[in-house]
Amino acid sequence: MEPNSRRPSPGSPTSLKEANQERLLEALRFAGTMTQAELARFTGLAPSTVSNIVRELTASGLLRVSPTVSHGRTAQAVRLSRGAGVLVAADFGHRHLTVAIADLAYEVLGLERIELDWNHRVHDGLAEVDRMVDALLASLGIGRELVVGAGMGLPAPIDVRTGQVGAPSQLPGWVGVDAAALAAERLGVPVRVDNDANLGALAEDRWGAGRGARNLAYLKLSDGVGAGLVIRGELYQGSVGTAGEIGHATMNEFGALCRCGNRGCLETMVATSALLAQLAPHHGDELSIADVVRLARSGDVACRRVLEDAGHHVGVAVANLCNVFNPDRIIVGGELAQAEELVTDAVRRAVHRQGIPSAAQAVELVTAELGARSQLLGALVIASDGASSALLAAARTAEPAEPADAAVAPLGT
Ligand SMILES: [Zn+2]
Repeated sequence: MEPNSRRPSPGSPTSLKEANQERLLEALRFAGTMTQAELARFTGLAPSTVSNIVRELTASGLLRVSPTVSHGRTAQAVRLSRGAGVLVAADFGHRHLTVAIADLAYEVLGLERIELDWNHRVHDGLAEVDRMVDALLASLGIGRELVVGAGMGLPAPIDVRTGQVGAPSQLPGWVGVDAAALAAERLGVPVRVDNDANLGALAEDRWGAGRGARNLAYLKLSDGVGAGLVIRGELYQGSVGTAGEIGHATMNEFGALCRCGNRGCLETMVATSALLAQLAPHHGDELSIADVVRLARSGDVACRRVLEDAGHHVGVAVANLCNVFNPDRIIVGGELAQAEELVTDAVRRAVHRQGIPSAAQAVELVTAELGARSQLLGALVIASDGASSALLAAARTAEPAEPADAAVAPLGT
């Protein structure tokens, strides 16, 4: 169900009031807690309008107000009530599924991770999400009716026009399906879906290594390789949603066959499975990337070499990205991020050697800060897109609720 479809026509007094309410809720979703004066400055609404909205939405249980002191004067601190709603995030990887429940200020209240076969069917994957959501909500004592939206990350390109999962996907069983529609049907709430690298970019931009950057690329270097591009705070998805598919940049047109059908893609050279396969003849096939990093740090030359070479190949592709996109920050994320300078030094050298000097000098290369949580946090960001209008719709039909007592703090502060 699309809550926006029930909106009155633009310009009517009701729609203006709702638009103002949404503006105020958006500000609180972003900042966590604000005083009424800060809300007026942030939203550009008149103090009397802010005060009216806060009074109404507090009465309907959506907001919670408590006394505070601001600039030496008593003031009212306003925040979203924890009882107003929760968000669901689901992150599908090549071999895992993580599901989290968070409050509206993105504080994760509960989380579960399971191993999941990459060859599973869509309906089985969604049934797992449904089961995990139920179990998490039950353990938290939260009713399902409080879920206002869900966000889902998939290791595949998502067509922004149709919502269809594209190819190549790390989950072949999902290709061609409208994942958001199927998930919404299964979970009974609005669901938004995006590519996992895009979600990592959103989260790092807001809470992690991307803070303060204007234009950034987040690299997800795991078994799948991709990038999410954020331009002035907005995710850039391209015309059909495949922007940032750097894993399929051609490095050697006569190279190894890639799962996308081309040859010599970056991913064939630096995917974690490709790195582990190179080490298998001498190190066995039980190694993880964490083992490789540990061995490299303790002086194993083969492990060190494999990580450095991967960093070099990534750097060549990133140099091209810098020439074309000219970002001010590149964030190295995914499983290879745990190698830190063992990979990033090689990336940096290649970027400086292969990129045009002005583009290479303009870019700062950093390691992601949020680790494996970044996809999940990005899924929460898209889950809450549209949550304000859903909350307002629910508040209009619901009985006034008791405001929850628990304080909510925005993540990363
Ligand atoms: Zn490819």
